[in-house]
Amino acid sequence: MAGKITDFDLHCHSSVSDGSLAPEAVVARAAAQGVEVLALTDHDEIGGLDAARAAASAAGIAFVDGVEVSVTWRGATIHIVGLRIDPDHPALLAGLGSVRSGRLGRARRIGDELAEAGIEGTFEGALKYAANPSMVGRTHFARYLAEIGAVPDSKSAFRKYLVPGKPGYVAHEWTDLATAIGWIRAAGGRAVMAHPGRYSLSAGALEDLMNEFRAAGGEAIEVVTGSHSPDQYGLFAEIARKHDFLASRGSDFHSPGEGNADFGKLPPLVKFLTPVWHDWTV
Ligand code: AMP
Ligand code: MN
Ligand code: MN
Ligand code: MN
Repeated sequence: MAGKITDFDLHCHSSVSDGSLAPEAVVARAAAQGVEVLALTDHDEIGGLDAARAAASAAGIAFVDGVEVSVTWRGATIHIVGLRIDPDHPALLAGLGSVRSGRLGRARRIGDELAEAGIEGTFEGALKYAANPSMVGRTHFARYLAEIGAVPDSKSAFRKYLVPGKPGYVAHEWTDLATAIGWIRAAGGRAVMAHPGRYSLSAGALEDLMNEFRAAGGEAIEVVTGSHSPDQYGLFAEIARKHDFLASRGSDFHSPGEGNADFGKLPPLVKFLTPVWHDWTV
């Protein structure tokens, strides 16, 4: 691997899942903002990879095939990123299809719940924002709730609605941890725990999650991500060191101006970590 490459961004979204830009535009933005190696990691779907890979080649940056799989662990939603997957692998494709299949029904139930809370028409409204209806999710509801003025911006929708204990949260069973890791590894990929600081787990539960992830074949965790606070960069650097995980870095970019995550803004991984890309030729 060329030693001078510094800006690896291994987590972002396009309109194939809940990002707002088409895959080509995501790549163009990343390249313009200094990313040198980019992974597109749409939720539960690899349909954007061909277009993104071609755009990366045209823009002169390296591209990594990725995906972010939705998992249910002890009733909580956990995300597992797969990097350098074979996007044609049948077991991975079938598995992702099974995860996606629950989304439309869940979205209808979210719409019903919000209607009970007095906000009508959100299922249809969310679908307007979902370029790929089979991938409709909470971000699309959040954008619609902001559009109609129910909340000031989409981020606020995740405080007032859509989260456990609030209207519009519908518990959902995704796939399980070992199964998701199994699909990623079967497809030749490396399994990375996405934003482990986001899950609001007790220290004991986090420790259990790390151990189960490792036992099931997980190899890396995200340390520097747009979904972590700067304090969490340090905390998860220590956890990566303690558990001997490889470390990953990625913005988790979704949309210009939405949240803080954007390309080219994150600090590097601290030197004592072994990057998830340490053995890649890019
Ligand atoms: P879903 O897969 O439909 O449950 O939607 C999950 C997505 O919602 C995540 O990938 C984020 O893009 C978004 N999300 C979840 N929680 C928040 C939050 N607190 N603030 C902003 N976006 C969030
Ligand atoms: Mn998302
Ligand atoms: Mn995620
Ligand atoms: Mn993500």
